[in-house]
Amino acid sequence: MADSRLLYLNENSRLFAGFNRPTSPFVIIGIPLDITSSFRPGSRFAPSTIRETAQYIEFYSIRSGIDMGEVGFNDVGDIVMHPSDVEENIKRISDVTSYFAEKEKIVISIGGEHSITVGTIRGIKPDCLLSIDAHLDLRDEYMGYRYDHACVMRRVSEQGVKIMEIGTRAVSKEELEYANRAGIAYLTPHQIKLMGVREAAKKIITNFRECQKIYITYDMDGIDPAYAPGVATPEPEGLDPTTVLDIISLIIDKRVAGFDIVEVSPPYDPSGITSVLAARIILETAAQIQKAKSL
Ligand code: MN
Ligand code: MN
Repeated sequence: MADSRLLYLNENSRLFAGFNRPTSPFVIIGIPLDITSSFRPGSRFAPSTIRETAQYIEFYSIRSGIDMGEVGFNDVGDIVMHPSDVEENIKRISDVTSYFAEKEKIVISIGGEHSITVGTIRGIKPDCLLSIDAHLDLRDEYMGYRYDHACVMRRVSEQGVKIMEIGTRAVSKEELEYANRAGIAYLTPHQIKLMGVREAAKKIITNFRECQKIYITYDMDGIDPAYAPGVATPEPEGLDPTTVLDIISLIIDKRVAGFDIVEVSPPYDPSGITSVLAARIILETAAQIQKAKSL
């Protein structure tokens, strides 16, 4: 690989469920960025833990009828992270993801903390983004720093990307005001429970009607800590995994160009179930994209 954008790609990492299939439309990239977590760090261990866990679950998706074992994944390795410079890391992430996005691959990034999404968005250049997250992540700065994981969606919004958030329940007044001002729609788990999965999906589809290229980001704390306890900032009253995957199966179409899963902290996940769920979400989402591509 001669392209200079791949300078910081370490190809010798563990493979997602052992997959290394260059012909697959799905590229997996590990991004162990773990610098700004305010509560429970450790997300740097998530790419290798989730990859290993994926080896022990089934690849067939009943929802989509797709066997991801047949489609496979092309795990290209980890991006080597600078130990303290988030902005340098965002540049590295943008370089590597742009390389694979230009090759028309579906880029699946495994974080790392949520700050990685600023980089993947710069590389993949979607015009719309769906975020599953307990938090809005719309702070302009957190303790004076603009690339904190609490500011991700604000930075993405400033790049002109249309954002919608679901699972929202831990917010500041400043973030709500910005969301209203910038036209960022959000649905709380309580609202989704009352309206049901179909209605929630309909709202997302309507909101994204004009989009050309859609990106999905799964902050694992969007899901209830009963199902996903091993996250950096757990927050009660979250979505359950079935609700999330049912909504995803209704909204995915050919425009989805990539997704990421972030904020899993394996040191706080002694039973390993958060990583199992992360691996399952990756498989199900990829299966739905594959189904949409083949229609
Ligand atoms: Mn969050
Ligand atoms: Mn987040």
